[in-house]
Amino acid sequence: MDTRTSAAETAAGVFSRDRSAANPFVLQPLPYAESALEPVISARTLRLHYGKHYEGYVEALNELVAGTPFADMSLTQIVLSTAKEPEYATVFHNAAQAWNHAFYWRSLSPTGGGFPSHALKLRIDSAFGHLEALKEELSIAATMQFGSGWAWLVLDGAKLRVVKTDNEENPLIADMKPLLAIDVWEHAYYLDYQNRRADHVHKVLDKLINWDFAAENLGAA
Ligand code: FE
Repeated sequence: MDTRTSAAETAAGVFSRDRSAANPFVLQPLPYAESALEPVISARTLRLHYGKHYEGYVEALNELVAGTPFADMSLTQIVLSTAKEPEYATVFHNAAQAWNHAFYWRSLSPTGGGFPSHALKLRIDSAFGHLEALKEELSIAATMQFGSGWAWLVLDGAKLRVVKTDNEENPLIADMKPLLAIDVWEHAYYLDYQNRRADHVHKVLDKLINWDFAAENLGAA
C-alpha cells in the first residue's frame, strides 16, 4: 500500500468503510452535536452541510464506484488514483469531497481554538515563529482562495506549511500530508455570514480549530 495512504488513514482514523455492503462508503459520524459549534457555525448550517452536501458526495461516490475496481479501494486510494485523470473527474470530485469533509469535521471541535499541545507548539514556532503567525497565514489562505476551495495546514516533507486548494483538490495528491482543513466553499458559512468569509474564518480559528487533531495527524500528540 502507498505509504501516504497508510499514514493518512491510520492517523486520522476517519475513513472507515464496510466492504461487504452494497454502498461501501459510509458517512463518518459528526464527532459532536449539530448545535455544538454554535455560535460560530449554526446548527442549521451544519445540518445542511453534513446532511445535504457531504451526504450527497458519499451517495454519488457509491453510485459511481458500484461494479468498478474503485469499489474495492479505500477512499484515499481512490483520491490518489483518480486525481488528474480527466476520465475519472467525477469520481475524483466526489471521492475527494467525501475525504475532505470527513477530515474537516474532525478539524473542528466545540472545545477548539486556544493553544496547541507543547509538542505541536514547538513545531509551529519552528515553522511560523509563533501561533498567531500560523493563524494569520491560515486566515489569509482561506480568505484569498478565489471561489470554492480549502485552506490546509500540512506536513510537506519535514516542514509544516499552509496551502490552499481549489474546489475539491486535496494536498495528498501533491505528496503533502493534511493536518487540518478549513472549508471555504460558500455552503460552509453563507447562511451565517453571507459574504463575510474572513469573519467566519477568524472565528473558526479562535474558537473551533482542533489543534489536538493536528497533533494526532502529525504524530506529535
Ligand atoms: Fe463543504
